[in-house]
Amino acid sequence: MNKKMTITTKILIAMGIGLVTGSLINAFASDISFVQTYLVNGLFHVIGAAFVNSLKMLVVPLVTFSLICGVCGIGDVAVLGRVGIKAFALYIFTTGLAITLALVVAIAIAPGEGFEQARTTDFIAKPAPPLTDVFINIVPSNPINAFAEGNMLQIIFFVILFAIAMLMTGDIGRKMAKTAENLNEVMMKVVTLVMDFAPIGVFFLMAKTFSVQGIGLILPMIGYFSVVVLCLLLHGFGTFSLLLIFLAKLNPLTFIKKMRPAHIFAFSTASSNATIPVTLQVVEKRLGVDNSTAAFTVPLGATINMDGTAIMQGVATVFIANVYGIDLGVSDYLTVVGMSILASIGTAGVPGVGLIMLAMVFNQVGLPVEGIGLILGVDRILDMIRTAINITGDATVTCIVARSENTIDDQIFQDPDAGVITDVELPHKA
Ligand code: ASP
Repeated sequence: MNKKMTITTKILIAMGIGLVTGSLINAFASDISFVQTYLVNGLFHVIGAAFVNSLKMLVVPLVTFSLICGVCGIGDVAVLGRVGIKAFALYIFTTGLAITLALVVAIAIAPGEGFEQARTTDFIAKPAPPLTDVFINIVPSNPINAFAEGNMLQIIFFVILFAIAMLMTGDIGRKMAKTAENLNEVMMKVVTLVMDFAPIGVFFLMAKTFSVQGIGLILPMIGYFSVVVLCLLLHGFGTFSLLLIFLAKLNPLTFIKKMRPAHIFAFSTASSNATIPVTLQVVEKRLGVDNSTAAFTVPLGATINMDGTAIMQGVATVFIANVYGIDLGVSDYLTVVGMSILASIGTAGVPGVGLIMLAMVFNQVGLPVEGIGLILGVDRILDMIRTAINITGDATVTCIVARSENTIDDQIFQDPDAGVITDVELPHKA
């Protein structure tokens, strides 16, 4: 194999082969029990799931050390507050744009009108957490628990507080900050080690997903599916590009090209949270954003910013309303906008969570929750695409905040080779 091939290219090839393998199995071998037991639910499942675990394994330590370095790098509580407010406001703003775009396009195209209301699969809606709890739970009653559970908002809250205290303790804090920097450096290396296995992991993940899902599932739902994808693309290439040009003064084409590794991971894992290590690495090393901004905005975004999910919710609302012949008024649509923004803040970036929040949106505007059964079949594939959009939103906002704080290095951003991930040379004993 070509020595110069980057990891990203290898992963991309593995992803394509996995997709084709999975689709072929789905089409021709779905009732061969040997294939199902030993390949799909055996080999594919085990290696794919172990790979996702290895990514998740990096998230908590990486975010912790990186965030300590970030806060100490900013060094000023007032600036920290300013970065936080900017990021939060931009996250809400972009999610608002996303859901509005989705509603406008979906109402114009009207997917689901005349749809034969096919048998609905039973969908049991899991209760969504009440929003008051979401806010109360930002403050961890036990930080060790927060770390153990990987509760991102609680971890961010505690680590920021801890790092501020470090800043306040002078010399002791400075020494600890140096240690955190060293640990962060080592963690980044661990990320590269895990990335070395990514082509294999991604192949198995894709093969498993498409063996189970099959492309054919999309056909009866093609109307809904294509409107969601259209809106995701419009937002991904249109809205974000405009924001990058006007607010971050950056070339969106360079941005999209450099985001590729993060896109691939988001697509194959369908989890913004599991993608945090890759997003962080891309945003810092390839796009040139300083750790002092990225360490804070990227994990925050993975948790509270989900533009792609909001888009799916907007289109799904219009689709189900059309299928069931229910007229929604302006106030209903406004409720959908508000609920989707809140839902995006209140949920973690893990696979399939968007559907659970959709139940909450439906309840609020009086749509039948069992309608979700209709869109269940195509949701996994949409989840993969919308997760890629979710993390693109995190990176876009990070760049805008970095530009306004003067923490982006344009030279790194322009350099096509900056931060390219290549194979890691393992040390050998002399
Ligand atoms: N999988 C998405 C994410 O992790 C959330 C969702 O839409 O279900 O960002």
